[in-house]
Amino acid sequence: MRILITGGAGFVGSHLASETMSRGDDVLVLDDLSTGRYENIEALEREGRLRLVVDTVNDPSIVDECVKQVDAVYHLASAVGVRLIIEQPVRTIESIVGGTDVVLRSCARYRRPFLLTSTSEVYGKGARVPFAEDDDRVMGATTKRRWSYACAKALDEFLTLAHWYESRLPVRIARLFNTVGPGQTGQYGMVIPSFVRQALRGDPITVFGDGRQTRCFAHVGDVARGLADLMACPEAKGRIVNLGNDEEITILALAERIRDLAGTGAEIVLIPYEEAYGEGFDDMRRRVPDLRQAASLIGYRATKNLDDVLRDVIAWERARMAG
Ligand code: UDP
Repeated sequence: MRILITGGAGFVGSHLASETMSRGDDVLVLDDLSTGRYENIEALEREGRLRLVVDTVNDPSIVDECVKQVDAVYHLASAVGVRLIIEQPVRTIESIVGGTDVVLRSCARYRRPFLLTSTSEVYGKGARVPFAEDDDRVMGATTKRRWSYACAKALDEFLTLAHWYESRLPVRIARLFNTVGPGQTGQYGMVIPSFVRQALRGDPITVFGDGRQTRCFAHVGDVARGLADLMACPEAKGRIVNLGNDEEITILALAERIRDLAGTGAEIVLIPYEEAYGEGFDDMRRRVPDLRQAASLIGYRATKNLDDVLRDVIAWERARMAG
């Protein structure tokens, strides 16, 4: 099969490219290299079955040209990272809502299967965990710019489902929970790459807030496999499916775990949210996926636990720092 991955030079996109190529697909990547990096796909391009187009998903003629050439579309291109979202809200909203509209229009024109990567952010501050796909969403005020991301992604989901409802365009939506692994630079503040880098340098590990907020971290390899399985699953058409890992940990315990695995004895410090992000920020206390639908549709199960993930990231970061 020939597939298009928008955002394919990004962290998740490049792992998905590798996963789909190993299943025999030829891959076209459309990426503006804003947060994506050429290094992520350089080796795959050399194998000869991946082609990169450096351009934006907001350009209808470029997107149309790409979609026409392929049999299916994974739409990953998106602003990403809490810090980027807070600092560049216009780019965030325009790229997410505008880009998805453009890609969906071309998919509708050529009747191409479309998979949207959405996000666990759309659940917002819901207090009842685990989060299941049909749960209500709890959003903060529009003066807190963080929520622009969740709302823009929710609009993407509405638009995607609207194409399914009105014309039965074969769409799928994956809601990704925190995803980590080798290759994630965390330049826009993702917690695990930040903590690992701090620990390896022997710098203080900066825990924001009281550190009792929780997250669950999935290995990007598991998530990439889940995405490709969803695209291959006819029953997933028109559905929203959580992908992630349900092993929950507080951010403070995560900092301790990373400090111990890195073995550098770095100090752990608590930083108030206002100091870390300025105004415009709001955090959620707990975030845990309900993975039952992914399990029943595609037999999804996280094969790597948190320690596996952390060891992988520490090894990758060590090699990067040495090189
Ligand atoms: N966080 C932290 N220190 C950092 C970066 C993040 O304590 O240097 C916290 C952040 O406030 C949040 C959690 O770690 O509670 C996960 O943050 P991340 O930005 O990775 O993703 P999120 O789950 O918030 O989208």
